[in-house]
Amino acid sequence: MSLALHISRSVPLAPLTTFGLGGPALSFAEVRETSDLTSALDWARGMGLPVFILGGGSNLVVADEGFAGLVLRLRTRGRRWSEQGRELVVEAAAGEAWDDVVADAVARNAAGIECLSGIPGSAGAAPVQNIGAYGQEVASVVRQVRVLDRRSLEERWLDADACGFGYRDSIFRRKPERFVILSVALGLAKDGAPSLRYPELAAAVGASPPLGAVRDAVLALRRKKGMVVDAADPDSRSVGSFFTNPIVGAAVADEIAARAGAEMPRYPLPDGRVKLAAAWLIERAGIAKGLRMGPVGVSAKHALALVHHGGGKTADLLRLARHVRQTVFDRFGVSLVPEPVFLGVAWPG
Ligand code: NAP
Repeated sequence: MSLALHISRSVPLAPLTTFGLGGPALSFAEVRETSDLTSALDWARGMGLPVFILGGGSNLVVADEGFAGLVLRLRTRGRRWSEQGRELVVEAAAGEAWDDVVADAVARNAAGIECLSGIPGSAGAAPVQNIGAYGQEVASVVRQVRVLDRRSLEERWLDADACGFGYRDSIFRRKPERFVILSVALGLAKDGAPSLRYPELAAAVGASPPLGAVRDAVLALRRKKGMVVDAADPDSRSVGSFFTNPIVGAAVADEIAARAGAEMPRYPLPDGRVKLAAAWLIERAGIAKGLRMGPVGVSAKHALALVHHGGGKTADLLRLARHVRQTVFDRFGVSLVPEPVFLGVAWPG
């Protein structure tokens, strides 16, 4: 084991998550080099311990009992830029803060991720749930992902095709035991035009805005909705959206719209299915923004964000999440699917 790797015992995980909830990790280490990662995985295998890879903790729900295994917090750093044809390619280490990568890209006038401004978490986590906002998805710019195979402990590059990207989904999310993401290579358009697919964003920036103006507008919109992590904003003590937007067949969407008895937002997808707005369904089902259930509640700024107001337990959060899910199911027959990763938590339980 390298001298740089220090394994600690019984480390509280709550402070390492944006929710500020959950119990301790039995064993814990910060990883700054790939060699430390392989040593740590090897050590855990020898001890027979399960391993969980932690990034920014911004999309994570940890059980109150904690995790009886090894948590590895990826702290690898570095962004390497190169010009490849018409693209500016950045290889960002998994431990880089995602928003630093976006800010850097915008400053270099490299288009393709400007709408993904203000998303918390690490660069390595971005492909896991194929982060998206305002019609832009990281999958559209991922050229390759450098991974460590958790079985063979060998490094290799995966092409975007091998990542199995879907709506807020990827092979990394479906099979977390397969790989650890080491770095992500993104191909951005040199001096490219910003993406303005959503009217709300287009209206905020006017015609032909520079990338910087789009980034500022996205940050302002997100802040208004409590979706920028900020110690001064209690509504941001969350994982952002707690549920994904349901995707249903057109006939099911018609049925739900009939039940809703109002103009329901619906977004047709190229494959004929329809994306529904989870926040709209939640509010229509009778769950108001700002609802409190003891130490947790629904954000006062966005019905899709569940918030921890302090002094609570993960059990409180789960009770609220199940209440939201059940209320929407009873009203519309739609089962909302949570977006965060659960550690040691059985969902729906
Ligand atoms: P919104 O305007 O209240 O709309 C609700 C949902 O409808 C959005 O989530 C979006 O789905 C969908 N939608 C809206 N306009 C659309 C269009 N023109 N075409 C297709 N779909 C459309 O949305 P919001 O909650 O304020 O969020 C704005 C954007 O930021 C969204 O893209 C959202 O995903 C993203 N965001 C994500 C998180 C997160 O934690 N994952 C948190 C905050 C914001 P999509 O989500 O598929 O875009």
